[in-house]
Amino acid sequence: MSGCGDISPRMPGKVNVIDHPLVQHKLTLMRSKDTSTSTFRNLLREISTLLAYEVCRDLPTTLTRIETPVAPMMAPILDGKKIVLVSILRAGTGILDGMLEILPSARVGHIGLYRDPKTLAPVEYYFKVPDHMGERDAIVVDPMLATGNSGAAAVSRLKEAKPRSIKFVCLLTCPEGLAAFHGAHPDVPVYTAAVDERLNEKSYIVPGLGDAGDRLFGTK
Ligand code: URA
Repeated sequence: MSGCGDISPRMPGKVNVIDHPLVQHKLTLMRSKDTSTSTFRNLLREISTLLAYEVCRDLPTTLTRIETPVAPMMAPILDGKKIVLVSILRAGTGILDGMLEILPSARVGHIGLYRDPKTLAPVEYYFKVPDHMGERDAIVVDPMLATGNSGAAAVSRLKEAKPRSIKFVCLLTCPEGLAAFHGAHPDVPVYTAAVDERLNEKSYIVPGLGDAGDRLFGTK
């Protein structure tokens, strides 16, 4: 896929690293601890439009008849109605906003999960997706694929609604997160701006960018 680096063939699932210079530049600004909440938010929106561009590269088009000022022609159009963007709450909202700018006809779903403090297992508190998921291609969005547990749980829940296809988009991930996610869902390709070194003992991605939700909403 042009514009993406495809990492290790030893991984069970497909990982597309979007290494475009504009994406990498914006990601560097987002990583810096000196970046303000409003700049972080704007950058996440901008970078998400660029991620959407790559994720949509293989979308099917159909031909429609139009007339240019010069001549009639059959021209390609996207079947945008079939896409559903599924945001994992709460930080997924930041990616969702950017993607909707270039996919304005997409439908939107939300999945809310929290981590049970005793078992550490993800627990669902909200799930809402459009009707007729069998006709739709789902793009699940969450900035950080860290342990991979909530991403995998969200995709498991989404699969119950039987979408036609699923892709997973994040800003950052790490080998541990990819292994856990693709261990559960080897059929779901991951699109990311970077694969960082590792997880630390608090399940933060290193070097990462900190808590994406807190940086997006200014809650810390
Ligand atoms: N979630 C975040 O927001 N940041 C991390 O580094 C890991 C999980």
